[in-house]
Amino acid sequence: MKQNLSVEEALEMVLQEARPRQTIEHLPLAASYGAVLGEDLISKVHHPSADDTSVDGYACLEADTRSASLGNPVRLRVIGQSPAGKPFSGRIGRGEAVQVFTGAPIPPGADAVIRVEDTLREGEFVWLMKPASATDIRRKGDDLVEGQTYLRKGDLLTPGRVGLAAAMGYATLPVVKRPRVGILSTGDEVVEPGEALPYGGVYNSNSYSLAGLVVEAGGEPVILPKISDSVEGLRTQLQRAGQLDLLLTSGGVSMGEYDIVRRMLEREGEIHFWKVRMQPGGPLLFATWNGLPLLGLPGNPVSAMVTFLLFGRPLLFKLLGRTDPPLSRRRAIADTPFEANPTRRAYRRAVLRWTEEGYRVATTGNQSSAVLRSMAVGNALVVLEAGVSAQPGEIVEVIPFPGTT
Ligand code: AMP
Ligand code: MG
Repeated sequence: MKQNLSVEEALEMVLQEARPRQTIEHLPLAASYGAVLGEDLISKVHHPSADDTSVDGYACLEADTRSASLGNPVRLRVIGQSPAGKPFSGRIGRGEAVQVFTGAPIPPGADAVIRVEDTLREGEFVWLMKPASATDIRRKGDDLVEGQTYLRKGDLLTPGRVGLAAAMGYATLPVVKRPRVGILSTGDEVVEPGEALPYGGVYNSNSYSLAGLVVEAGGEPVILPKISDSVEGLRTQLQRAGQLDLLLTSGGVSMGEYDIVRRMLEREGEIHFWKVRMQPGGPLLFATWNGLPLLGLPGNPVSAMVTFLLFGRPLLFKLLGRTDPPLSRRRAIADTPFEANPTRRAYRRAVLRWTEEGYRVATTGNQSSAVLRSMAVGNALVVLEAGVSAQPGEIVEVIPFPGTT
């Protein structure tokens, strides 16, 4: 078991143990938003499917219209209409035009379009006040070419990508099955919300904040019944948990004699590391139990969330084969002081906002790892290297909470 790793060393070990999942399932388009594509997707069609017009106007032969001007308009005979979805079936000849609407195919014979604003209609004739041109013709395949790959395995299905997949002709999408992530809170004092709180008790918040973080990272949370501080209870719950791809425990990884997660895994699992040089989250533990990767998150609500973001989220991304970065970073001007930890990297909860001078960031106040409000009020973490505090006006590195800023 390694101890007191840097954040980078610890993350590397976590990612080494993560085996990307290969299980693919097929979801209808409307249910696929937020999933991760499991295969490359080629377009089944050209888009546009034919040369078409991007404006309302008249299709005609460019050569007929070269002399057209306001003072000397050119007259063409209108031989039909081509609304979108109802292409004109004939052919355009010299001196002729077909009225076209946005998205309609350019009729055979035509090579130019004039916008309706530059024309005057008079019965079966149309007057052109300027020459028609090809600039408003969208060429077949301008956007998508049949057989070409436009979406790749590992792409997160954003709204734009779901739309693109639909445009490419897919009704269902092959996506990576969401990893099942067990969440197990430990602690004699931990009580389920809804029950009466005994003297010295604390409501279980970790199971629910972690479940949200798991969903947001693309996993399927499986909240297991919380257990008290007993090794037997932990063992039983792990054995009952069923098929999981990752287990998150909260609590029981510190130095005390009731720190059962660490004690059990010492004897019955393989601990890869314990303790990371960070604050909050110092007692983080990473182990394998019966082939199952297990992140032992500290019980303090802020520590549990921050360690999940820094280690659990990248791990889930790797299981999913997601190719986008698990966390993004910004530079921001500090509006308040941020205090470093003398020996460990600190992650301070903060409010990040966009202003005319760029990003600015202010502390949420009390930085105790028991103050969960800081994670609710805040939308970002300010990263401070050991011993390097920041004063107002200085530039700091910031990690926005996923899905917020
Ligand atoms: P531990 O890591 O077990 O020593 O717990 C550290 C602190 O976090 C203690 O004050 C616990 O009461 C609190 N805590 C542990 N688990 C939870 C939980 N599931 N929800 C809220 N607070 C918790
Ligand atoms: Mg505990």
